[in-house]
Amino acid sequence: MIKTGKFAAALLCSAILTACSQESSNQPVTESSAAAVAISRADAPGLSEAYAKLRKQQIAAVDYELSVTLDKNGKQFSGLVVANTKFNGALKQPLTIDFAGGSVESVSVDGAEVPFKYNGHFITIQPEHLQGGEHAIAVNYQHPYSTDGSGLHRFEDPEDGNVYMYTDFEPYDANRLFPHFDQPNLKAHYTLNVTAPQDWIVVSSVRENKIEKDGAVNHWHFPQSAKFSSYIFSLHAGPFHVWEDDADGIPLRLMARKTLAQYVKPEDWFTFTKQSFAFFQPYFEIDYPFKKYDQVIVPDFNAGAMENVAAVTFNETYVSRGKKTQAQRMRLANVIAHEMAHMWFGDLVTMNWWDDLWLNESFATYMANLSLAENSEFDNAWENFYLGTKQWAYHSDQLPTTHAIQLPVKNTYEAFANFDGITYGKGGSILKQLPYYLGKEEFRKGVSNYLKDLSYQNSTLSDFMGHLGKAAGKNLDQWQQQWLYQAGLNTIQASFQCENNKVTSLTLTQSAPEEYPTLREQRTQIGFYNMKNGSMVLNKAIPVLYKGEKTQVTDAVGLPCPQIVYPNEGDWAFAKVNLDPVSVENMSKHINDIEKPFTRLMLWQSLYDSVYDAKLPLDEYISFALSNAGSERDINVVRLVSSHLGRAYSYLNQVAIDNAKRDELQLAIENFAWTQLQQAAPGSDAQKTWFSTFTAVAHTDAALAHAKQLLQGEMTIEGLPLDPDMRWSLITLQNQYLYGDYEQAITRELAKDNSDRSQLNAIAAEAVRPQAESKTKWLENILQHRDNFKLSQLKYAAYSLFPTEQSEFFEANAERIIAALDEVNRSDAPEFVGTYARLFPLNCSEKGVQQLSEILHSGKQLNPLLEKALKNRRYENQRCLNMAAMLSNGREG
Ligand SMILES: [Zn+2]
Repeated sequence: MIKTGKFAAALLCSAILTACSQESSNQPVTESSAAAVAISRADAPGLSEAYAKLRKQQIAAVDYELSVTLDKNGKQFSGLVVANTKFNGALKQPLTIDFAGGSVESVSVDGAEVPFKYNGHFITIQPEHLQGGEHAIAVNYQHPYSTDGSGLHRFEDPEDGNVYMYTDFEPYDANRLFPHFDQPNLKAHYTLNVTAPQDWIVVSSVRENKIEKDGAVNHWHFPQSAKFSSYIFSLHAGPFHVWEDDADGIPLRLMARKTLAQYVKPEDWFTFTKQSFAFFQPYFEIDYPFKKYDQVIVPDFNAGAMENVAAVTFNETYVSRGKKTQAQRMRLANVIAHEMAHMWFGDLVTMNWWDDLWLNESFATYMANLSLAENSEFDNAWENFYLGTKQWAYHSDQLPTTHAIQLPVKNTYEAFANFDGITYGKGGSILKQLPYYLGKEEFRKGVSNYLKDLSYQNSTLSDFMGHLGKAAGKNLDQWQQQWLYQAGLNTIQASFQCENNKVTSLTLTQSAPEEYPTLREQRTQIGFYNMKNGSMVLNKAIPVLYKGEKTQVTDAVGLPCPQIVYPNEGDWAFAKVNLDPVSVENMSKHINDIEKPFTRLMLWQSLYDSVYDAKLPLDEYISFALSNAGSERDINVVRLVSSHLGRAYSYLNQVAIDNAKRDELQLAIENFAWTQLQQAAPGSDAQKTWFSTFTAVAHTDAALAHAKQLLQGEMTIEGLPLDPDMRWSLITLQNQYLYGDYEQAITRELAKDNSDRSQLNAIAAEAVRPQAESKTKWLENILQHRDNFKLSQLKYAAYSLFPTEQSEFFEANAERIIAALDEVNRSDAPEFVGTYARLFPLNCSEKGVQQLSEILHSGKQLNPLLEKALKNRRYENQRCLNMAAMLSNGREG
C-alpha cells in the first residue's frame, strides 16, 4: 500500500480494549508452546499474533471457492464460501473463522450443517465437527456494502447514477468480503464466481474464463488463482471505462469511472507501467509472476494505492482535472512503480506477520525511486525522494511517538497504526543507504536470491538479512541493531581548520537525542564548496565511513579552504545536518550562487529546520526567503520554499506577537506569492506552485478581490487556465473569509460541475466558513450523524473546520469534541479514528498543550492511532510555543 500521509488510521480494539490486550500480551505464546497452551479467542474484533500463531499450527493448507452476488441498489451482498481445509492432526480447540460485521445463515462441514457461534467478529466451530485430515467448510452469509473504503466499498456516481465497487483489505479487512482465515501466513488459491449486473466488468487477481448471460445479470467465472495471502485478494466491479495495452507480453488494463475517464491520460499510465516492468524483471531476475496486470482508479479510496495481486487500486486524486505538473506526473510514476514492486516483494514473497510490514513498505518505497532514477524520464527522482519521503522520515523520527523500525506487533490494530513515516520513510531511507554499504550489485543479488528462494511463501526479517549478508559477504547484525531496533535521528556536523588557505583538520561530530542515545555507523560524503567565477561550486566530495562521536577526515587535509562544507553531500546518510558557522554565513550570502540545485535544496531545508527547532526566529527566515527565493529557478527548490512560506504564514496566525508585526509579515508573504505568480513563466510548473501558495496565504481584501476576479474570468493569468480543482480552491478561499457572494459561488459551481469531487469540495467550502452555524452543522455531522455520510465526506469537513486563523471556533467547540472521545474510542470504525483526530488543530498556546495533556493523562486507554495523533499534536503545539518565544526574544546567544 502507499499512504497519502494524511489519512493514517488505526483499527480499533473497541470497547474491549482490555480484552484485546489480555489476549495478546498476558498470554504470550511461542511457536513451541502454542500447541500446549490453550488460547481462547477474546470475544472482540481484530486478530492477535498469539492467536494467529495457534491457527497456523491448526491448519496445514487451505484453498477457497467463493461465490458472491452483487447488485446495484441493495444495501448488502450475499455470498457462499467453501474453505477446503487440511488440518495438522486432530483439532483440540475450536476453529474460528474471521468475519467482521456480517450475518451468517448456515455453516456446513462436508455438506452437513453443523452448529456454530457467530459474535459479529468471527465464527466458531467446535473441534468435534472437524475431526480427521481434510474438510470442506461452507459458509452462507450476507454482508453490508461498506461506505468507509474498507472491505467491499460501494460508490454511486452523482453525475450518471452508475454504481462501482472495489475491495480494500490491508491489514485485516478481507474478512469483510468473505469469512476465512485472515492472516498473511495462511496463503491460499482462490476460485471466484461473481453474479453482477449485465453492464458491469468484474476484476480480480486472474482474468475470467467464462461469462454467462442470465437475464439482467451475468455470471462471471474465474479460474483458480496463484497462491497468495488474502489481504491482497480483490474484487472490483462496475461499468468501468477500460483502456488496454501490453508490456512485453503482459496484458495491461487501466480502468476508471466513466465520468472520470475524460481526465485520465492512459499514455502516461501505460508508459510508466512499461518502464517499471522493464526495470523490475531483470533487477529481480524473476519474470512477473502473475498472468495479467490491471490498474483500477477508484473513488473514496483511503490510501494512495494498494497492491492487490494483478488488480492494483489507485486513489482518484492521481487523476488531475487540469494539466499536471512534472511533480504530479512523477508522483504517479512513483506510485505505479511502488505497487508493482510489491508484486514481487509482498505478493510473491509475503511477510509472515505484520511485524515485518515495514520491510514490505520500505522496500517498495526504495525500489520505486530506484526504478524512476534508473529507467524513466525523471532524472531528479532522488531530489524528490529527499523532498518527500526523507523529510517525512526525519520529521517522524523526531516526534515523541517515534519507534524502532522493527517492533513487535501484538495485533491487527497495532499493525494499522504502523502505516507511518517510520515504516515507509525511514525504512525506505535506510534501505537506500544499504547499497552504499554493501555494494550495489551485492544488494541486488541478495534481493533476487531472497525472492527466488521464497517465492509463494512467507518470510521474516532474518530471511531477508541473511540473503543480503550472504550476497555481500558481510555480517549485518550490528547494522540491524543500530538501524532497525533503535529509534531516533542522529545529527552530524563538520568542523574544520584552515591555514594558508588549506584545510589542516576536519572532524565530523555525531550526536544523538537524549532519549535515543545510539550513535551509528554509516557512509556519507562531505562536500567542499568554493566560489569560482561568480558561482559557488562543488570543489570536491569525499566519501567517509563514520562511527562513534568523532571521526577525523584525514582525506580533507590539504584541500583548498572551503567556504561551505556540507556533511551529507548527495544525501547518502540518514542524518540531520547542522551547518558550521562559516558555512551558514557563506550560505546566507551566496544561496543563489550555489551551482547545484540539490545543494540549494538541502541548504534551504536546513534553514527551515532551524526555525522549526527554534534556533532561528521565524521573521528572520521569512525576510531571508522573501529576499532570495525570487531568483530561484529550480522547480524543486521553488516547491520547497513556497511550501515553507505557506507554513510560516500559518504559524503567524498562531504565535502570540504584536498584531502590527503579524500583519506586516503576512502581507509581505501574500504580496510575494502574488508577484511570483504573476512573474512565473506562462504554463510553467512554478506558476501552478505559486498559485496554490497564493490561495493558501491570501487574506487581505485586495488579494481576495484578485481571487474573485480570477474565478469569474475578469482577470486571467497567461498560461494558467483554471481547472475545476483550482476553481474550488478559489471558492474555498472566498468562503474562508466570507468574501463577496461566497455562498452563490458554491451553488454556481455545483450547477456546472456536479461530480463527486465537486460535491466533496462544496462540503469543505461550507465547513471552512468562520460562522458558528457551519461549524456546528459539520461538527455534529461528524460526531453524531456519521452514519448518514460516506467517510470521504466527513474527511473533507474535518480537514476544513479549523484553519489556523480560526482558533476561536475550536475553543468554542473544544468541550464538545473532547466529550465525543469515549464514543470514538469505543466504536469499531477503524478508518474514522484518523478523521476524528483531525478535529484537534494546531493550537499554539499553553492552554492547547494543557488540553491535550489532560486527555493523555486521564488514564483512558486510547485507540493506538488516536493516542499517537494526540501526542504528536501536543508536541507540535509545544514546538510552536518555542518558535513564538524565539520570535519575541530574538536569536539565542
Ligand atoms: Zn506499499
